Amino acid sequence: MSRLLSASIETLSGVGGARKAAYARLGIHVVRDLLYHFPRAYENRGDVRPLTDASMDAYAEGGAKMATVMTVSTEPRRARLKNRMTLLKFRAVDDRSNTVCEISFFNQDYLHSTFTVGATFRFYGKVECRRGTYSMTAPAFEPYVEGIDLPPLYPVYPLTQGISNKLITTHIGQILPVVTAQTEDPLPEEIRAAEGLCTLGYALREIHAPTDFEALHTAKRRLAFDEFYRFALAMGTLGHTARRTGAPVCRVDDATLQQFLDSLPYALTGAQRRAVEDVRRDMASDTSMNRMLVGDVGCGKTVCAAAAIYVAVKSGRQAALMAPTSILAAQHAADLIPQFESLGIRAALLTGHTTAAQKRKIYETLASADPATRLDVIIGTQALLSEGVRFAAPALVVTDEQHRFGVNQRATLSEKNGNAHLLVMSATPIPRTLALVMYGDLDVSRINEMPPGRQRVDTFVVDESYRARLDAFIRKNTAEGGQVYVVCPAVEEREEDERDDALIPLFADFGGDALAMAEIPHETPLKAAVQYAAELAERLPELTVAFVHGQMKPAEKDKVMGDFAAGKIHVLVSTTVIEVGVNVPNACLMLVENAERFGLSQLHQLRGRVGRGTRKSYCVLIRGGGGDAAKARLEVMRTTYDGYQIAEQDLIQRGPGDFLASSEGSGIRQSGGMRLAERWSDPALMDRAFSYARALLEDDPDLRSHPELRAEIERMYADAGHILN
Ligand code: ADP
Ligand code: MG
Repeated sequence: MSRLLSASIETLSGVGGARKAAYARLGIHVVRDLLYHFPRAYENRGDVRPLTDASMDAYAEGGAKMATVMTVSTEPRRARLKNRMTLLKFRAVDDRSNTVCEISFFNQDYLHSTFTVGATFRFYGKVECRRGTYSMTAPAFEPYVEGIDLPPLYPVYPLTQGISNKLITTHIGQILPVVTAQTEDPLPEEIRAAEGLCTLGYALREIHAPTDFEALHTAKRRLAFDEFYRFALAMGTLGHTARRTGAPVCRVDDATLQQFLDSLPYALTGAQRRAVEDVRRDMASDTSMNRMLVGDVGCGKTVCAAAAIYVAVKSGRQAALMAPTSILAAQHAADLIPQFESLGIRAALLTGHTTAAQKRKIYETLASADPATRLDVIIGTQALLSEGVRFAAPALVVTDEQHRFGVNQRATLSEKNGNAHLLVMSATPIPRTLALVMYGDLDVSRINEMPPGRQRVDTFVVDESYRARLDAFIRKNTAEGGQVYVVCPAVEEREEDERDDALIPLFADFGGDALAMAEIPHETPLKAAVQYAAELAERLPELTVAFVHGQMKPAEKDKVMGDFAAGKIHVLVSTTVIEVGVNVPNACLMLVENAERFGLSQLHQLRGRVGRGTRKSYCVLIRGGGGDAAKARLEVMRTTYDGYQIAEQDLIQRGPGDFLASSEGSGIRQSGGMRLAERWSDPALMDRAFSYARALLEDDPDLRSHPELRAEIERMYADAGHILN
């Protein structure tokens, strides 16, 4: 490997204190980081058009940038403006359409000598067209020679204050020839040949400076393969929990377990009974349990976890239940604490809201040596991971909505607690191949059966033209005593240039509807939850409308959620905050705005928020744009109710990104380790990369004989601290 790669970014010309700090904000510290800082899009400068195209709608109204070849026809003139500004102005002729363009630059007098009469350039920028006169201000330009092709695709990088696109392009230009000449290919020749992959050097060169579309695609394919390969290796070596002995043996007899079952207001389903038996068997061993409970939202995982907790406590030990949000933790506490108390089990809730005094009391009673007064169960958020939390006799750690946590948090929890048994719950069906890599170390109990009497949530896909009918439908459902969720996509302003038609997103050729996802025209403006709630309240004055969004303080959020659960709010408008496990059985209508912006699995999760009680429930997906691709995609929701089938569809359409981390929970995304792979919607490439990784790990589980690869993985996933053990 080239030494240059691990050299500080300061080795590049012009990178000192301020720029170094700016680069650091982009996560770029060493030269390698810069090399792996891929463009987010490409300007399609090869699409050279006659100037007259500027009057076409896309350019005139859309403000899209355009490439055009023109020859300077007048000597540039300098003018002094107010505020010490100067203006350089000249004319250029486009031969193709025989039109003239006025070109101006501000404060760039030195360009005077560049634009000599008769010189030809490829200009790229926004063309204004007013009363038949064309003009461009400060366009990008490259000297043009007839017969010699200029690069068709110009990279556009993610930027930050103090780092311009030009600077990155220049720096990349400096390192590319050196690195691509020196970098050995870490991928064995056999794999490359078998998979028809290009070399790493070629891939890195072409992703930054593509020769043409085909070369760019070849490059992306190779880099995506590498990401999948390394991801599988990282999960297999760094993320997985080893079987540990010395776990507390927890055993209860049938009669004791029956007491728990008798305390429930219902009988367990067959699938729940099997899950409880799996758990009971695991916990009776001194090898720690590593089990995942998977099942669609509403299938009743919580009661299985409660049974496991019961087994631990009846064996004279303690248990912890950790949820990803304080809303969810509080809900578990509200359901479980009374239930446990009726069985003589002491349980408490610990979240960020718990007062210092209460906390002290909880810490004390958790660590108490006296089983007669000791706290048996603690329910909470990540607050459970904090220093003060010490158990006198830990036996079981349960995490809910596992996908919200980092892969290793579960291991940390278990190890911190004397090799406690581990039970994780997830409602996110993950495609099988991906699950094998991410959770291959876990045994799985699948709850594939719903409690009796559940009704199917009827699903509809509509567009904006249904607005009045939707309002009426909200009225009808609330008049009958039901409650309504409205989910809006998170507020996310798009950058100006993303509307640029000439811009080709990095994910453009990824198949599926990744392109549609990247380029959804906004026929309906994104509805910010706050503003949307206000509008809805105005249209439906007789209803109580409230909103929650991710940027609210947890206490405020909890208050609103609590009021909704208590039936004090008719319509709750939110961003996807509610996606996580909240249970309000009285809610019977779920409206999703701009549904095309969500993954199918996310929509499936959202749909699972309703239909939890006895009311007939509905899910209405409102399409705000995205054309036919989005329409077809959303149709899947209308006809499919199987979470696994939906997950497989998602994988094909959007790549694995949605399954890596739905939110702040995991660091896989932030680590940048899956930059291209995240949206790579060819599962076949993923599967093969995974199987090569598995084969390698079988021979060499810790990658001892592949130190560079191991180092690379550790480095890549180091920032994702909490996914490492
Ligand atoms: P999830 O698996 O999504 O976490 P929950 O555990 O929240 O689902 O269960 C959803 C609802 O179903 C709860 O109100 C719970 O009381 C109820 N429930 C669970 N199991 C059964 C069952 N066997 N029969 C009837 N209702 C059940
Ligand atoms: Mg749940």
